[in-house]
Amino acid sequence: AHLSSTELIHLEHEHAAHNYHPLPVVFDRALGAKVWDPEGREYIDMLSAYSAVNQGHCHPAIVASLVAQAQKLTLSSRAFHNSVFGLFAKEVGRVFGWEMVLPMNTGAEAVESALKLARKWAYLKKGVQEGEAIVLSVEGNFHGRTLGVVSMSTDPSARAGFGPYLPNVGPTFVDGAKTRVIRFGEISDLERALELHGPRVAAFLVEPIQGEAGIIVPPQGYLRAVHALCKKHNVLLICDEIQTGLGRTGKMLACEHEGVRPDVVLLGKALSGGVYPVSAVLADREVMLCIQPGEHGSTYGGNPLACAVSITALRVLIDEDLSGRAARLGELFRSSVIALKVSVSTLDLSPSPLHPSILILHTRCTSLTNSLQSPLIQTVRGVGLLNAVVIDEERCNANRRARGENVEGDARRTAWQFCLLLKERGVLAKTTHGNVVRFAPPLVIEEEDLLKAVKIIGECLVDL
Ligand code: PLP
Repeated sequence: AHLSSTELIHLEHEHAAHNYHPLPVVFDRALGAKVWDPEGREYIDMLSAYSAVNQGHCHPAIVASLVAQAQKLTLSSRAFHNSVFGLFAKEVGRVFGWEMVLPMNTGAEAVESALKLARKWAYLKKGVQEGEAIVLSVEGNFHGRTLGVVSMSTDPSARAGFGPYLPNVGPTFVDGAKTRVIRFGEISDLERALELHGPRVAAFLVEPIQGEAGIIVPPQGYLRAVHALCKKHNVLLICDEIQTGLGRTGKMLACEHEGVRPDVVLLGKALSGGVYPVSAVLADREVMLCIQPGEHGSTYGGNPLACAVSITALRVLIDEDLSGRAARLGELFRSSVIALKVSVSTLDLSPSPLHPSILILHTRCTSLTNSLQSPLIQTVRGVGLLNAVVIDEERCNANRRARGENVEGDARRTAWQFCLLLKERGVLAKTTHGNVVRFAPPLVIEEEDLLKAVKIIGECLVDL
């Protein structure tokens, strides 16, 4: 039976856990950066399944690898060898430059695996007393939804009600009588934590750019300074590149912007181009071999389908130079969104925090000249095709109030409503935190579609 979008949404609501708050649009078919719903309405995807479909939806080469492998061998389990896993392991190592890979399925599993690996390394190599190892992270982190991972979270909605938590992981540390939090981008916080607790710290886990926190780009030099501190204290630097990696920021890894080679790198999402769940922990032998046979694993980790799909997904990123495309189109996106500010009086360009060629543009709606229905962009920020447009909700509601409109309760205008307006006009984007809207289209998006999306962003800001 061909069900309507409304009927399909109803089925989900009635029969599936309410653990997400989706925009009311149903994906039925997709190709590249385009999506169609069951009614045949076309949309431009500006989220890429949280950066999993960097290579574009249903990339023909990746789908062909999936189909060919599915007809040959789908699962061996690691109880035996399979004829694709070794090739995948070698290829991932070659592309990114680490000696070994630990294959998993989801991002959160890669993070969990890295926590275990870091603890094991601390006991075997660093000489930390068994049961004492600490893994530090930062405020505002997002690394997934498993218990170990949410134990590190500072976001109440990710964390509250799920205790007790895993001890000795997360962004807090004891400083005398105080418990302090390591802030993202504040190198002195990590410095202090390591000064006080360094001998027990196994690893520092960080996203090079915080994704779910709202596309937060740290100051230039931050990651380099983090790396130096980790080296000084013999602490593993683990970079979570699950969202930032694989071309998204204009490089294969975002830490390349700072010339940093972490001890451990976590990949997921676009490692398969959105075709299959594939994640990986990358490290050199010295670290990776701390885990011995039988000590860690996953039934589906390194399965032939995952490996075949991933080899092709990596080849597509390289052959189509999707990193280069992300860098170029990212600049175009930010400058075009800035150009929308028809009635914004000031434009403030701040120096690039991560790399000299990266534009971080801030617009502030300080005066509204044309009309009260003005673009309400507070900030545009990002690197490559990982961008955020921050909506000035206060200004928006103030304008409406000044026009005598009701803005109380449900009538209040928000970034969420902005996303609904975008959807009505065929652009799919989602808020991350509060008034931050993430724009992260597939890296294969046509320039024409990107500019069309920007035009629609402008129209929706006028209507908001
Ligand atoms: N780490 C980062 C930086 C992420 O953005 C995400 C997902 O959004 C994850 C980890 C978790 O990945 P998964 O949802 O596949 O478990």
